[in-house]
Amino acid sequence: MSGNKTLLITGVSSGFGRALAGEALASGHRVIGTVRSEQAKAEFEALKPGSAIARVLDVTDFEAIDRVVADIEASAGPIDVLVNNAGYGHEGVMEESPLADMRRQFDVNVFGAVAMMKAVLPAMRARRRGHILNITSMGGFITMPGITYYCGSKFALEGISEALGKEVKPFGIHVTAVAPGSFRTDWAGRSMVRSPRSIPDYDALFDPIRTAREEKSGKQLGDPVKAARAMLAVIDSDHPPAHLLLGSDALALVRAKLSAIEEEIGAWETLTTSTDG
Ligand code: NAP
Repeated sequence: MSGNKTLLITGVSSGFGRALAGEALASGHRVIGTVRSEQAKAEFEALKPGSAIARVLDVTDFEAIDRVVADIEASAGPIDVLVNNAGYGHEGVMEESPLADMRRQFDVNVFGAVAMMKAVLPAMRARRRGHILNITSMGGFITMPGITYYCGSKFALEGISEALGKEVKPFGIHVTAVAPGSFRTDWAGRSMVRSPRSIPDYDALFDPIRTAREEKSGKQLGDPVKAARAMLAVIDSDHPPAHLLLGSDALALVRAKLSAIEEEIGAWETLTTSTDG
């Protein structure tokens, strides 16, 4: 697909969502962005009146999603590209973090994204074209202590993305999971949910991780505008990938993980194959 398109991007108030919306608008695409307040709606629409359209939607308002998407299709026309960008990071040692924090993490990062996909798919399938980008994370491939729920949610979205891509390929619909490394957005700042500490046994492991993340916030390697340009290149491609890493940190860490898995699989190969027959 090339030419000017209509993009529906969740979470355009800051970070990747805002950067992608800005670059897409500058390239002549039309953007319908979701936000969570009337003020953010007005701010977004002022970016390019007529081409930047905002809808107030929390992606965990599952009852509202179908209605909002149907209303967008009716008033703004066909959605060519859905970008599931809305999401946040939960930080906390698993044993210390309430299950309610995990449910919220999965509601936003996984169930919200799936509900959005289910809402756009019928019309995309009828048109036999469309593209869905799911913003996952390098944390959907590699893991780090202290963000177990976040990694779990991004692994889930990676898996769902890849499997869905196989289901909808015959209908001309592409699904791309975009996995960024560390970028300068509000992710580790105002948006992060941090569970309080309660078990001193984890102090030595976790305290330096929390401190380092707070200190690094705003100084990460990745530039969200450059990420936005990379995402637009994928959107413009006739053969987009099922997975795209963004950032040299993501590239190095994911490659190291894949080779460590390969090595471990090899080391245990005899036991693995011993169960056949
Ligand atoms: P951000 O600047 O905090 O932006 C997050 C956006 O998601 C905001 O617009 C926020 O809206 C929205 N959002 C959060 N919860 C929502 C909900 N329940 N319903 C609707 N919108 C919601 O951070 P970001 O880094 O750009 O995050 C975008 C995506 O990139 C996330 O999925 C994140 O996990 C992923 N990611 C980020 C990094 C990184 O280093 N920055 C790396 C890998 C992946 P409000 O303004 O209303 O809160």
